[in-house]
Amino acid sequence: MTREKLLLIPGPSPVVPRILDALAAPTVSHVGPEMVRDLRDACEDLKKVVFCPAGEAFIVSGAGTLSMEIALLNTVNIQKDRVLILSQGYFGKRMVEICEVFGIRHDALEAEWGKAVLPGELEAQLRKDAYDVVVCTHVDTATGAGAPVEDYAKAANAAEALFIVDGVCATGGVPERMDDWRIDVVLTAAQKCFGAPPGLAIAVFSERAMARRRGLGSIPAYYADILRWLPIMKEPAKYFSTPCVNEIRSFREALRLVLEEGMEERFRRHEAIGRAVRAGLAALGFTFFTDPGFFAPTLSVPQYPAGVEDKAFRQTLYENGVVVAGGLAPTTGKVFRMGHMGNLSTDDLKFAFEALETTLRSLKYGFEPEAAWKAARAHLG
Ligand code: PMP
Repeated sequence: MTREKLLLIPGPSPVVPRILDALAAPTVSHVGPEMVRDLRDACEDLKKVVFCPAGEAFIVSGAGTLSMEIALLNTVNIQKDRVLILSQGYFGKRMVEICEVFGIRHDALEAEWGKAVLPGELEAQLRKDAYDVVVCTHVDTATGAGAPVEDYAKAANAAEALFIVDGVCATGGVPERMDDWRIDVVLTAAQKCFGAPPGLAIAVFSERAMARRRGLGSIPAYYADILRWLPIMKEPAKYFSTPCVNEIRSFREALRLVLEEGMEERFRRHEAIGRAVRAGLAALGFTFFTDPGFFAPTLSVPQYPAGVEDKAFRQTLYENGVVVAGGLAPTTGKVFRMGHMGNLSTDDLKFAFEALETTLRSLKYGFEPEAAWKAARAHLG
């Protein structure tokens, strides 16, 4: 692929030419036949990605944060309901903030950074108090910790609470089996495991979640009200608000690519890449911020070994062709964050490890040459 830099931040992830080409196709009428076909197809394919054929898919201009609002405002009765937020880092806190601004009664169970809330802790909280909705982050982008979503779903279902998953850093790369596990809403965005450009707020609502929305009557949202969007998702020739036509067409192509690879193979590949990246970085002397029991397949948070300084490392790596992200407080300066999701190839990873070695060498950090790629390669079949 033609690239300026290999984008290995925790999203946006690299966009392969096939998806970029779809983005660059001529802008079509938002209610014309091309859009009718592509938005309809995208909704159907999205439901396959999260294993929820009878649910409803929503794809609108925005980003993950809008889909967080959409998920909450369309399921929570602000006057009556109580929400339990399972937080393992930065984006659980954002859920708390959204509840605060809308006056939604909520509690948060917070895991230590690098870990996730344990299912037993959720069960204990649900025995202690009654909640109408439980929300979790699948993979926290600040900490690299993945949550045991299937176990959370069991606990939430046993307590008859609706269960919402923030899949922004997981959907399309890590299993989210909505029907089998009984997840009610998966909210996500285009720019991570789908490998599409940013610009879309995406959510799938189960039948139960749709029934909940209908039961709420009017909600304190207009653009974010899924009942205003539902007729458009079903019949895109109708108008509510002008969709970002090009972005939707490129997302449609991204979904096609996901399904061509096959969901199980895509999950397997993400797992393998996660193991490969960690093995390679460990061979270079990095340790990990994330507790090994919670490693996510989609991003890694390596801690610098002695002698490697954050800013110089990331700047030199950038000059060598690879972009990674710095840590978010409280990890700033101590870690970097490396996304490895979407449509990354073995060649991309090889390039990344070569750039890492070149970088560390120029920073006069001692390591065994080529050990990293050898360690990584062993996981890549
Ligand atoms: N949730 C998670 C887990 C995320 O990683 C992000 C983005 N990094 C968001 C929500 C917010 O998404 P956006 O930046 O697209 O608004």
